[in-house]
Amino acid sequence: RCLLNLRYIKINMDNKIKSIGVLTSGGDSPGMNAAIRAVVRTCAYHGLQCQGIFRGFQGLMEGDFKEMGARSVNNIINKGGTMLKSARSEEFKTVEGRKKAFEHLQNANIDALVVIGGDGSFKGARELHKEFKIPIIAIPGTIDNDIFGTTHTLGYDTALNTVVEVIDKIRDTASSHNRLFFIEVMGRDCGHIALNAGIGAGAEEILIPEENLGVDRLLESLRRSKESGKSSSIVVISEGGKIGKTVFELKDYVEENLSEYEVRVSVLGHMQRGGAPSCFDRVLASRFGVKAVESLMDGKSNFMVGLRNDAIELVPLEKAIKGSTQVDMELLRVSDIMSI
Ligand code: ATP
Repeated sequence: RCLLNLRYIKINMDNKIKSIGVLTSGGDSPGMNAAIRAVVRTCAYHGLQCQGIFRGFQGLMEGDFKEMGARSVNNIINKGGTMLKSARSEEFKTVEGRKKAFEHLQNANIDALVVIGGDGSFKGARELHKEFKIPIIAIPGTIDNDIFGTTHTLGYDTALNTVVEVIDKIRDTASSHNRLFFIEVMGRDCGHIALNAGIGAGAEEILIPEENLGVDRLLESLRRSKESGKSSSIVVISEGGKIGKTVFELKDYVEENLSEYEVRVSVLGHMQRGGAPSCFDRVLASRFGVKAVESLMDGKSNFMVGLRNDAIELVPLEKAIKGSTQVDMELLRVSDIMSI
């Protein structure tokens, strides 16, 4: 009995929330379904109504809602993408658009929202909260891991595993043909994926937006690689790296300057977003979902749930939006040492 009691947290039930809406917005990421499942089931567990809102803020403005119970989310924990669909909406960026959304929330008697998405979606959530005082908790869902206040966003771990698996396969060809491969991965403004997947896959060089050492350093490093007896090499590059050249221009530049190399380019693209979520992402999604719903029940609003020191914490939404994440520069040093 004592042990059982420990499993219940004290929740302020005076709070009048009876119905919670959940939506996914922006780019999809593996783990979003697991988070929807967690939100829906936590609502069911506490006797709250839950409404699934389809197509993100667009569906919110159109009243595209469906009531969901514990059984509506069977067999989705293992699926990539989002069963609620996602969308981007310019209209929601206007006050008129958000007013429409609020009216639909009122008509459907939805008292609070859980918004799963990236920082753009958080901005939308913040505006809706500011203007109409609707309680909102955000869940970070994006493969880029570029949200301040959480060490992991939903989908990041899965994306890393996907990238490492693909690079392992490319390495087979690279080593069989003595080739140099440039592999472009996602992460327009931040190099989390490139850096971690690069180390995990044993890349010789990793180019990230946070650090531009110039193309000549890349040439130098490749030259050294050749001299040290390596017959093939993998270079992982974040899309839109600050080096000032596209991955294809970089290939031409290297081939012009290092005739001993034959370079192949592989742009991984959207495959990085898809696929079954890793166990880590499924567990994280479940924890985020429980915390989001119970925080709303506890009267909290305008926060993001985040993972810090293995605990799920509430981070003020404004901080999550304004803060910027930083890659661990020590990882660059580790990468340099590993590629000797
Ligand atoms: P990803 O990380 O995959 O890009 P995201 O959530 O950042 O995901 P965005 O396209 O930036 O994706 O934002 C999703 C939606 O959030 C937008 O289409 C828009 O409807 C809404 N949104 C973004 N910025 C604002 C804003 N400043 N005010 C109101 N709504 C916004």
